[in-house]
Amino acid sequence: MGLFDFFSSDLAIDLGTANTLIIHNDKITVDEPSIIALDKLSGRVLAVGKQAMQMHEKTHDNIKTIRPLKDGVIADFHAAEHMIREMIKMIDGGRNRLFAPSHRMVICIPSGITEVEKRAVRDSAEHAGAKEVYMVYEPIAAAIGVGIDIEQPVGNMVVDIGGGTTEIAVIALSGIVCDQSIRIAGDVFNKDILDYMRRQHNLLIGERSAEKVKMEVGSALTELDNGPDDYEIRGRDLMTGIPKVIKVSYSEIAFALDKSVSKIEEAVLKALETAPPELSADIYDRGIYLTGGGALLKGLDKRLSMKTRLPIHVADDPLKAVVRGTGSVLKNLPKYKAVLMQ
Ligand code: ADP
Ligand code: MG
Repeated sequence: MGLFDFFSSDLAIDLGTANTLIIHNDKITVDEPSIIALDKLSGRVLAVGKQAMQMHEKTHDNIKTIRPLKDGVIADFHAAEHMIREMIKMIDGGRNRLFAPSHRMVICIPSGITEVEKRAVRDSAEHAGAKEVYMVYEPIAAAIGVGIDIEQPVGNMVVDIGGGTTEIAVIALSGIVCDQSIRIAGDVFNKDILDYMRRQHNLLIGERSAEKVKMEVGSALTELDNGPDDYEIRGRDLMTGIPKVIKVSYSEIAFALDKSVSKIEEAVLKALETAPPELSADIYDRGIYLTGGGALLKGLDKRLSMKTRLPIHVADDPLKAVVRGTGSVLKNLPKYKAVLMQ
């Protein structure tokens, strides 16, 4: 047994619009925002992940930050490839410089992806060192990640709310029976907050501040049991140009997010409508599973359950459900043969 065989270099990757997570040796070893900072002149990679995020919206002429994925698919191929490569280097805290080229990689992809987009993911993975690349649809990975036995002849509905898209799928017998994908998710929530602050309070804030507001006082309902305290938000006054602070309540943010949350509701209802009746009966019994960072929006589970009258289950640690499922697939490739695409 060679040195490199001892530590398997098989990887499971959740390449998300907002976050990239990698499982290596059964552990989540990389969990970073999907962003890269490049030197504009030389094209050199300056930073990836959290470090690059800190530079985001604070760059000057010589630096640019890029989020290589948009709406779940690779929008900037070159940047994506660099990002994946650098993140793989981060495994083991970057100590393992002689990291063996990965043998096998399982990467999840959105269910609505085109052949060209699929090819882009495969090429990026291969250029980053994968010898064998397997792809699995994200809703399937999410379902496995929340512990659903996807092979059973039983319908399960998973709603994954990420950065760029909300993917709603009904899964049975290892396949996707029907799905809906809408481009309303975390990024749009941020934009809703940003627009609202400008319109309502003449306050100009950045994307990152908007995201902070969403995490602290974002809500899908104007009334919550144990709602969070008001939150101070800093930005620039549009009238005076001077930095200022405003206090916002979760009810106000619920108002700002209402339209987008309604669109997610509608998409869920539509997916329920298109599910074959036998599977509807299963979903009636089992309810709906929520995954992805958007599942953490306060009151969303309650709002969806009021609308659908179904039990809503928020996954434990919803940001990690997809990568966990992808990791299970990697660990058990023969069992999950039916869900793999090569
Ligand atoms: P992706 O798979 O597209 O990378 P993720 O599942 O990682 O997306 O979710 C990222 C999204 O979840 C981001 O838009 C982020 O702002 C949002 N998010 C993370 N935590 C929370 C929270 N506590 N409340 C609301 N949204 C959140
Ligand atoms: Mg995701």
